[in-house]
Amino acid sequence: MSRSESWVQIGRQVACDAPRCDNVFAPRVRVIRDTSGEEWSFRCPKCQKRYDMVRITQRGLEVRAELQAVIADTTMAAEEREARISELQAAMERETTRGAAAGPGPSSETLQEAQRRASREGRDASSDE
Ligand SMILES: [Zn+2]
Repeated sequence: MSRSESWVQIGRQVACDAPRCDNVFAPRVRVIRDTSGEEWSFRCPKCQKRYDMVRITQRGLEVRAELQAVIADTTMAAEEREARISELQAAMERETTRGAAAGPGPSSETLQEAQRRASREGRDASSDE
């Protein structure tokens, strides 16, 4: 199997737009990686509303790895390197879906699952904080 999960804490605060929630919080982003690519999403810790941030295809991950390699490659001629970087960035963009359009992908879980997970992690899904 090739599915992994990691978490990224975002410093910036966002406001939940769910009706009657209005919770302001710094998202803890769940990054799921599997054979179909990578998916970034988070939930409001108060109401568990899901927010999809970005989805990158498997091909996109390969492009990203190549992009990082090119950026790190100091032996390449500057002009050639810059051209390659813009080419790879454009390819990366084509393999990336942002915002709500990214949709629930491999990490898709029910509200109950999310609430169970939140309580396992010692976070009270119904608290005001
Ligand atoms: Zn909320």
